Amino acid sequence: MIYVGSIYTIKDQNEITIACDFTHGDYRDTLWFKTDLENENKLSLNNCDSFFVILVLYALVNKVDITFKDPISQRLFMGFEDYILPTLLYTNKNFIPIKISHNGLSKELYSEANSIGTAMSLGVDSFFTVSDKLNSIDTIDVLTLFNAGAFGEKGGTGARKLFHEMIKEVEKVAADLNLPLITVDSNLSELLDFKFIYSHTFRNLACVLLFQNIFKSYYYSAAYHLKDLKITNQSTAGSFDLVYTAGLSSNNLIFKSSGLFHNRLEKTKVIALNEKTFSHLNVCLITTDNKNISEERINCSKCKKCVRTMVTLDLLGKINLYRDVFDVEYYQQKRANHFGDILYMNYHMKDLYAKEIMEYMQLKGYKKPFLSYYYLIRRACLAIIRKIKR
Ligand SMILES: [Zn+2]
Repeated sequence: MIYVGSIYTIKDQNEITIACDFTHGDYRDTLWFKTDLENENKLSLNNCDSFFVILVLYALVNKVDITFKDPISQRLFMGFEDYILPTLLYTNKNFIPIKISHNGLSKELYSEANSIGTAMSLGVDSFFTVSDKLNSIDTIDVLTLFNAGAFGEKGGTGARKLFHEMIKEVEKVAADLNLPLITVDSNLSELLDFKFIYSHTFRNLACVLLFQNIFKSYYYSAAYHLKDLKITNQSTAGSFDLVYTAGLSSNNLIFKSSGLFHNRLEKTKVIALNEKTFSHLNVCLITTDNKNISEERINCSKCKKCVRTMVTLDLLGKINLYRDVFDVEYYQQKRANHFGDILYMNYHMKDLYAKEIMEYMQLKGYKKPFLSYYYLIRRACLAIIRKIKR
């Protein structure tokens, strides 16, 4: 049995740590979340919801029952019982049913909670959610950034370093959008031995649950279009967005899935109408640690994600608007090569986004650069040669 103690806080000059000790036999450890001290009044410390989410997963991974000392929001607890645990047991053959005990469920509502949040990672999904909700009744008014696995699923010093570098970039966007930014660091990735692709919804939304004092709803960007959702026992977390967002919602904090009815190309079309993206869009796979990164621009303009996005912006007639973030001259020089890459990604790698691009071209009657077929064949031959050499 895992015993989870009460949550407590530690403050220093700039930050507040919200922590909780737990024991499992002789093993003792602490799960913590850390945010700026100025966010203190946004925290909902009367429940242990964030700890509940992560430590129930921890208990499932370790195949052991768990008990909580502090109250858990009733709706969240029921969401776990009704949706999340059955889904996790269905999708992961290593999990077995566990017993979750508690000292009481909380029905508390947070009357001050009026904000609507979403994550800002500078990519297409984040900007789509912000752009799509502009001028709607659900306009995003708070941005978030969490160190919960996106910078390294096992956490540690490397992930923390990238997280702090990313904060600097996201702060610029938040200032430009005139929105507050809430950041949370945590050691949850160091504790939780559960792959990020299967657990990112829990990791990220656990951080949001700390702030029930301000959030009434929070948009979580969908990984897939509804028509591409495949529910099997090997599906990753993105396939269960609708189930997980419903199951993780708390008494008055509702999680919603964003972008479920737009494919990547349609999302790119929406963000290209928002001029704030022209100088901030960052889709690049290459981190700032990598020597290949351009010193002038935040995207390398060479990796798979950059190529896919640049080709999409080209087809939409928007590529020139993104000169600050992509090397458009380099793109124009290599245009046929890039279309060859998309052809290869579509035919050989069955890449979903490459397929969307090809379908759009067909629909609109766009002609591919003639030489793109040469680059397709060249790339396929190089792949075969590499395979033979191995
Ligand atoms: Zn790149």
